[in-house]
Amino acid sequence: MTTYYLFRLMLLICLILFQACREPQNTALMETADLAEAYAGFQENSITERRFGYNKIAPLINNRSSAFENQVLGYSVEGRPIHSLTFGEGEIKVLLWSQMHGNESTATMALFDLFNFLEGSSTDKFADLRSTIRENLLLRFIPMVNPDGAERFQRRNVQDIDLNRDAIRQSSPEGIILKEARDEFEPEFGFNLHDQNVYYNAQGTALPATISVLAPAYNEAREINPVRSRAMKLIAGMNRVLQEEVPGHVGKYNDTFEPRAFGDNFQKWGTSTILIESGGYPDDPEKQYIRKLNFMIILNALYEIASGGYENFNEDDYFAIPDNDSKLMDLLIKNVGTETNDYSYRTDIGIRRSDLYQEGIRYTRGNVSDWGDLSVYYGYQELDAEGMVLSPGKVWDEEVALEDLTDSLAWGMLKNGYMAVKTTEADKGKIHEWPLLLYSGDMKPAMKAGLDNNPDFYLEKDGKLRYAVVNGFLIDLEKQASAPFLQKVQ
Ligand SMILES: [Zn+2]
Repeated sequence: MTTYYLFRLMLLICLILFQACREPQNTALMETADLAEAYAGFQENSITERRFGYNKIAPLINNRSSAFENQVLGYSVEGRPIHSLTFGEGEIKVLLWSQMHGNESTATMALFDLFNFLEGSSTDKFADLRSTIRENLLLRFIPMVNPDGAERFQRRNVQDIDLNRDAIRQSSPEGIILKEARDEFEPEFGFNLHDQNVYYNAQGTALPATISVLAPAYNEAREINPVRSRAMKLIAGMNRVLQEEVPGHVGKYNDTFEPRAFGDNFQKWGTSTILIESGGYPDDPEKQYIRKLNFMIILNALYEIASGGYENFNEDDYFAIPDNDSKLMDLLIKNVGTETNDYSYRTDIGIRRSDLYQEGIRYTRGNVSDWGDLSVYYGYQELDAEGMVLSPGKVWDEEVALEDLTDSLAWGMLKNGYMAVKTTEADKGKIHEWPLLLYSGDMKPAMKAGLDNNPDFYLEKDGKLRYAVVNGFLIDLEKQASAPFLQKVQ
């Protein structure tokens, strides 16, 4: 018996010692609910849409409190200033840069929320968190690396150079500015902030990869050194928050080494670099919820760097994050009957919609992006059309002026098989939200279902029109569609 108790006692001591050894010095982790509360209190209300240019953010940079040091690092090709904002008095240097791709602004919005947060009162419930960050970190932000691209809401700069392939060649002033910012500051940690398209999913699931992450490789062999390992641990910490807030909506980006990219080279130059890619989330076209997620995970990461909390995680936690895949459609219609040259068959129809802009107003255009067996795909919206067949729409070619279109007229036409309606020349190019294809002149819409065509057709069941698909949006003809969608008079 004595030996038994002695053995139990030794086992207990071993366990305590083991726990003590593996426990990092600072185990405090931020509560996800606190991160969400911080966002709610400090959101920058002057930005509500993801398309904006330098003029929108200039006052938000130039009118900051003295907690931030504002510096113009240089100018874009078209002469727009590229700013950095510096905050904190600590020793650990962290560089965060956003929007080197002009149409990838989700994290930029979150940075302005974060600036508001960092300037918050020294007496509110986040005061300790703020002073932990301020006392331990020296933060430098470059909120908009590519202001000329942002002006046009396009990926590349005005030289048509992809800045994220210009880390080595240095053909662009914007690329030179970013490289010099790194060389001058020599950050220990770097955050490379981007957007990806909304069709990425967490592999093997229908869930969009709302946030994708990567600790970029620094060589072809994708080895892990202490620099990259730190980035992996920080990402694992961000993933903890995301899995609580949006379970399953996280993907790990492919880590093939890209010798021209900034992230890969930052890692190589000795900065522990984290890539954040903002993807899609249902019913969030302006990415305002994803902006909140960015705020939460960046604030969490800054706290973990300041407190050493990222040491709670290991590389395995990082590798456990599912890979990114690209298997999403906006609308996936399954098993619909159709025929080609009288040959009858069933097909799935994968539809994707792109955003277009006219004078700053967003409208959409649908496209049949795939056709055939799409059983490996998922849809933000899916319809099993078993028992239904494709049916073309008809054209109403008596001119109706846009201003004379009423709810009952428009929906009456659609429900009776008239999908395309002729309108006056004066309406051409106008953006409208009717569930119809409006055209002027003699160019009638084709309304032919098939690969790479505009998705405009009916689904018929037992000889009755059951659904309409207009510009890639599914409309249940037994109900009035609830979601308006913007398109142009052709
Ligand atoms: Zn990008």
